[in-house]
This record gives sequence, C-alpha cells and structure tokens, in this order.
Amino acid sequence: MSGFLDQKDGAKTIGLNDRNSPNRQRFTIAHELGHAFLHASKPLYFDEALKFRNKISEEGTQLEEIEANLFAAELLMPQNFLESDFEEIVWFDIDDSKDIQELADKYQVSQQAMTIRLGYLELL
Ligand SMILES: [Zn+2]
Repeated sequence: MSGFLDQKDGAKTIGLNDRNSPNRQRFTIAHELGHAFLHASKPLYFDEALKFRNKISEEGTQLEEIEANLFAAELLMPQNFLESDFEEIVWFDIDDSKDIQELADKYQVSQQAMTIRLGYLELL
C-alpha cells in the first residue's frame, strides 16, 4: 500500500506507508491531495501502488489515477520552475542519469518521477 485518502463526513484524512522512502511519501501525499481537490465526491481512495501512464485514454478509476498523478507532478515539479532549471543545463546527456538525478534531488522526487515529468513536458 502506498497511501489512502478518506474523505467521509466532511473530514479528509491521508494515510501513508512509512516504509516507503521520503520522496515516495511526498509523491503519495501530493497524489492524495490531487484526489482531495479533483475528486471530492468519492469517499475513499486506496492506492496500492502509484502507476504511471503517459496517455490519458482510460476511463473511470484509471482516469482519476492519471489526474491525481498529474496533479502531484505539477505540485512537486512545477512546469515553469522545471523549464527554467532545464534551460540552465547546457549539455544534457540522456545516457548519463546524473543530470536527471540532480534535478530529482533538487525537487525531492524519485529519478523515475523526474524522468516521466521531463518526458511529459517534452524536455527529453
Ligand atoms: Zn490514487
């Protein structure tokens, strides 16, 4: 389990798996906040694992998960900040993960999350 959002009876509670890394927990909190802001009518979200999809082509629950991931990505890696940082990197070696790792460290996200975000923003 990664986390959950319980939003019944006017109270919102986010639960986390504290065995996950701090960066993973940050992303999970941002993901659950996405559900809280975007999907307020559903009483419970239970996220076993946060999976990424590039295409918004799924229906129902899948679409809500994609939306929550996009919300989390924008919250933790704002497009304008990331584009500004990316412009300062003169030579970006896609085969050398050091540059992506430096950005991931700066934004306190996983290298995987940063790679997906850069791809989504068409910076890679
Ligand atoms: Zn979710």
